[in-house]
Amino acid sequence: MKHWQQVERARALLAKEVGYVIKPHGGRLRVALAFPNTYFVGMSNLGFQTVYSLFNAEDGIVCERVFLPAKSELAEQKLAGVPLVTLESQTPVREFDVLAFSVSFEWDYTNVLTMMRLAGIPVRAAARTHHDPLVMIGGAVTFVNPEPLALFADVIAAGEGEALIPPLVRAFRTASGRDDFLQQLVHERGYYVPSFYDVRYNDNGTIRAFEPRAGTGAPAVVRKAALKTTEASDPPATTIFTPDTEFGSRFLIEVVRGCANLCRFCWAGYNYLPVRAFPKERILELAAKARPHSNRAGLVSIALCDHPDIEEILTRLVEMGFAISPASLRLDDITPTILSLLRRSGEKTITIAPETGSDRLRRVINKTVTNDEILAAADMIFASGIENLKLYYMIGLPTETDDDLVAIRDQTLQLREIMLRHARGRGQIGRIVGSVNPLVPKPGTAYQWLPMEDDGSINRKIRRMKSLTADIDNVYFNIKSERHSFYQALMSLGDRRVAPAIEAAERNGGDWRAAVAESGVDADFFVFRDRSGDAVLPWDIIDGGMKSSFFRSEFDKSTRAEQTLPPKRQKENARLLPVLQ
Ligand code: SF4
Repeated sequence: MKHWQQVERARALLAKEVGYVIKPHGGRLRVALAFPNTYFVGMSNLGFQTVYSLFNAEDGIVCERVFLPAKSELAEQKLAGVPLVTLESQTPVREFDVLAFSVSFEWDYTNVLTMMRLAGIPVRAAARTHHDPLVMIGGAVTFVNPEPLALFADVIAAGEGEALIPPLVRAFRTASGRDDFLQQLVHERGYYVPSFYDVRYNDNGTIRAFEPRAGTGAPAVVRKAALKTTEASDPPATTIFTPDTEFGSRFLIEVVRGCANLCRFCWAGYNYLPVRAFPKERILELAAKARPHSNRAGLVSIALCDHPDIEEILTRLVEMGFAISPASLRLDDITPTILSLLRRSGEKTITIAPETGSDRLRRVINKTVTNDEILAAADMIFASGIENLKLYYMIGLPTETDDDLVAIRDQTLQLREIMLRHARGRGQIGRIVGSVNPLVPKPGTAYQWLPMEDDGSINRKIRRMKSLTADIDNVYFNIKSERHSFYQALMSLGDRRVAPAIEAAERNGGDWRAAVAESGVDADFFVFRDRSGDAVLPWDIIDGGMKSSFFRSEFDKSTRAEQTLPPKRQKENARLLPVLQ
């Protein structure tokens, strides 16, 4: 793709957008904000849109977007060697002061490298000079485990954008140059400069220590940056509307952040504590402002109904004429009022996450709903007129047996019965879609020491699940392959030594098996090893706010199928948590 073609394409996209920002560059910190996937995917990412607004809200910053070219253009652009440009002013990314990536998914790691190569920027931080933009990597993955990306980033921004951007602006205003800028940033919460540390290893390959280099001022541990309270904050919301995106012109808004249920596998639950609700008035004002550009509201919250005013918010959104899509509903939140509001808004499908089919295994993972409660919730869902149900299940959970897999099938059959009973009166049968994923133990959870279940065993379970769930009318199951999860686990659980595998996978177009073989990375070491004896874990360099001793005790309780907190006690639960200081 030639430069003029990139310019034309950018202008065509802008012509269909509402809400983008154009600012003069002179005298401002120029930030190219990159989403390591296509425009189509990136523009539906609320985190990305939020960081764009936060940057541009600062007078001293001009922020422009850049995306991975679509597949059809990527090969051509790689060959042509034409530098990647931003959308707003079609300026080559290389000319910006900062290239900031917002990374939400491990699968996008290779795209981070591709975009740097397309921009003409060396992918390894050590190979970059003062003539290159400073490469900053932020987004959800970075405060879970930034280490696999450590060698590619000049600085990693760990935490929530609202808390990260003001110190960045402060440092830019006062820094005398790039080195000084980095040295100032490491004194701020959430900023991790990987090159300021030497990582020492034990003979068995585990990490002995992260040692801050003398004279850098880098802290022993980087504390995640997070908003203490959202009472006076604007909720993150779509500010740029475009029809050319995964969710169309949907107005996305975050209603409440965090979830206090403490499911032992859930990094989002642990990492976004404490639960913080955004002000109802601002949610509704922003929605009213967005209404001329959008008729569908996507409510992005993992525990939507923890907002104290959720019923009023839904009622007002319905009155404004929005169709409403909740990301997913927590089973213990479902009420007839909420369902009827969603149904009135046109919603036909509800997504819930039983995770497994047995009460025993749910106690293991600390999911505090029972089979009876799930069936009662399904009855309420179908009675409200909702036609379809989406279910999330996991396999490969600790202590799981074949009985637990059969229980997933049995529970699905019971849910189907309930769906059919309600459908009979309506003459319209919906469908149930089950999604089954092998557990990938995540950093920053009670399962952070757990090895992933070995491939032989997980493959047997996948085959078993496929045969158990085949040929059930009106029920469809998507069962994720073990290999897919294995490489995701490598990127999730690895440290900076997996960087060569990411580079090889980027070069060979995503063939991870070949990439791991070529790079010589011992993937099994990172994925299948029991880490419970490790003194230092790769992600310990970031302090996410939860204490290791708490995770240890949760891990032990898990093996005894013991729950930490009784159900339906969110308020008391919140008080008990070792949350951010
Ligand atoms: S209820 Fe859902 S969001 Fe909350 S901790 Fe459990 S899995 Fe995570």
